Amino acid sequence: MKIPFVSFLPMEHELDKELRDAFERVYKRSWYIDGVEDAAFEKAFADYCGTSCCVGTGNGLDALMLALKALGVGRGDEVIVPANTFIATALAVTYVGATPFFVDADIRTFNIDPSGIEDKITEKTRAMIPVHLYGQPCDMDSIMDIAKRHRLYVVEDCAQAHGATYRGRKVGTFGDAAGFSFYPGKNLGALGDGGTIVTDDEDVAKKARALGNYGSDYKYHHIYQGHNSRLDELQAAFLSVKLPHLDRMNEGRRRIARKYLKGIKNPAVILPYVPEYADPVWHIFGIRCKRREELEKHLNEAAIGTNKHYPIPVHLQECYRDLGFKKGDYPVAEEISATELSLPMYYGMPDEEVQYVIDAVNKFE
Ligand SMILES: *Cc1c(COP(=O)(O)O)cnc(C)c1O
Repeated sequence: MKIPFVSFLPMEHELDKELRDAFERVYKRSWYIDGVEDAAFEKAFADYCGTSCCVGTGNGLDALMLALKALGVGRGDEVIVPANTFIATALAVTYVGATPFFVDADIRTFNIDPSGIEDKITEKTRAMIPVHLYGQPCDMDSIMDIAKRHRLYVVEDCAQAHGATYRGRKVGTFGDAAGFSFYPGKNLGALGDGGTIVTDDEDVAKKARALGNYGSDYKYHHIYQGHNSRLDELQAAFLSVKLPHLDRMNEGRRRIARKYLKGIKNPAVILPYVPEYADPVWHIFGIRCKRREELEKHLNEAAIGTNKHYPIPVHLQECYRDLGFKKGDYPVAEEISATELSLPMYYGMPDEEVQYVIDAVNKFE
């Protein structure tokens, strides 16, 4: 048996006709940017999240960056971000000219540890970007409480958490705005790049939309030095096909996660922990193991695809060497990056494959 880390085939097989029809529909209309498909998807995604506004963007990184810009975060400002995240969270901050202040992770949830946030707040702190990493919601009550007390904007990074809930409420609805990615591998993925901002603040939505469209409020009238970052009609049409299936497909991931959580019994392996407030959507199923490289080799030899999220923490990336961090500055994020191993997880993964992975992990000594 050969088990890929991720496969889109079961989903694409199920939605094959609808996706082809969506292509035909757009192609026949012959209108590719800023049209009815984008408007329809934005409305549907806002309804899905429970927000009043949704603004399509070219990708998830731009969604975060444009949200920060629309909130007025820029040069001279500091933004709190988790030390354990994908690079895009920090890049959104540095793109707008602000400085990221990292906060270490909670070793159990992999997410930002709220108890470390207040130490990093200065007079210059303007915003926080909690990341619902691996599809697991952050401790939002604690985060929003800190944000209120210090009057900080909150931009949620929901790139891995479409449909996840915190105490029954969808992520992306807690902060001032949220950024989503529709990169193909995300829980809701396009057939290319795409992203969106959701917010209840109409002014922020309006500004973000203008910023993503050359800073223009109406054609050839430019109020900001903007960007070109829009959700195109084809991707919006594909996303409209997939969105009605998102909850069901997330449920498919939850089923696999439950099997892993129940079936994996190996003292060398630490399973993911789900706090009582969280209903995660398992973008990634990340286990930890002190002998991670050996475990990875063992699984790969059994033809099981694996991944590491992420092998080098953001503060130690070469692109941020000017920030002056060194090994040991964020011990928990470093521990995660040295021990985390992601197991295969995708909608439609067959039960025999899940069982094969469980058995292979259990056989590791
Ligand atoms: C994927 C991702 C992004 C960026 O999304 P893109 O669409 O790839 O630009 C941002 N944050 C996190 C946590 C991600 O996983």
